[in-house]
Amino acid sequence: MNELLNDPYLKYFGNDLRISIKRLDKLGVYDGGNKHFKLRYNLQKAQNSGSPTVLTFGGAYSNHIAATAFACLKAGINCIGIVRGEEPIALSKTLLEAKANGMKLHFVTRSDYRRRTEPEYIKSLLDEYGPAYVIPEGGTNEEGIKGCEEILTDEDKSFDHVFCACATGGTLAGIAKSSKGNQIINGIAILKNMDGINTLLDEQLEDDVRVKTKINFSYTFGGYAKQNSELQNFISEFTTRTGVPIEPVYTGKTLYGVYDMLRKGDIEKNSRILIIHTGGLQYLNQNSLISGT
Ligand SMILES: *Cc1c(COP(=O)(O)O)cnc(C)c1O
Repeated sequence: MNELLNDPYLKYFGNDLRISIKRLDKLGVYDGGNKHFKLRYNLQKAQNSGSPTVLTFGGAYSNHIAATAFACLKAGINCIGIVRGEEPIALSKTLLEAKANGMKLHFVTRSDYRRRTEPEYIKSLLDEYGPAYVIPEGGTNEEGIKGCEEILTDEDKSFDHVFCACATGGTLAGIAKSSKGNQIINGIAILKNMDGINTLLDEQLEDDVRVKTKINFSYTFGGYAKQNSELQNFISEFTTRTGVPIEPVYTGKTLYGVYDMLRKGDIEKNSRILIIHTGGLQYLNQNSLISGT
């Protein structure tokens, strides 16, 4: 799934630079990307749990909601989405698609949604909608991390640096766990409030892996899904030059970050770099909603 990144612009960073991109997006618009790996063992467990219903959480544009709905449909599992915020008059494309794929949507207030990890709150949801196998927001739990350990394969052991977008950190943890030797694993944080990530990495990773796993907070652009014209211009120019589609919430910030770090000399010029394209392209469908087509 690796492709050499074919970008004429890279010559400005030196002729020795080789960047590959692992196109997890090609696994599918909805259930591709990192969510493909995060759901793999979760759905297996749901199927074996005897209650073939999944209950999970997300916002109106969530890739995890989109992926869970699609993957459950394919696996013949019922699914319930607990969605943050009051039910809007017009559903987002993401929610419309999830609904069309059979997900039952339940909207909860933002203050209820904040309780999504509390056992008591989860029990009240199961009393109301259950029984169900519960997958946390973003799909980050033991099964999700185990699945992400399968993102890197043997062919990737020669890369010096691996980069991926980082929200809950589950993907980063899985990638770090399966990294080899002196590989540096770099997460580009896409939201500001990340207290949980360092805790997760501390819990999940052995000391020798933990020290080579880094999170860069310089490219959040102010928070989750926040963007400015500089990021948007970077994305459209990058996609035009390379033919690789990226979106503004995760992969756009990641690529922007890698290029900026190269420009500043934060990464050695002769490095062999692997960027994980974590998918998320379903988000781009929202644009057609905005433009009214
Ligand atoms: C969910 C998602 C991530 C974040 O993964 P975490 O494991 O929560 O850090 C990154 N990229 C894309 C495209 C995603 O959909």
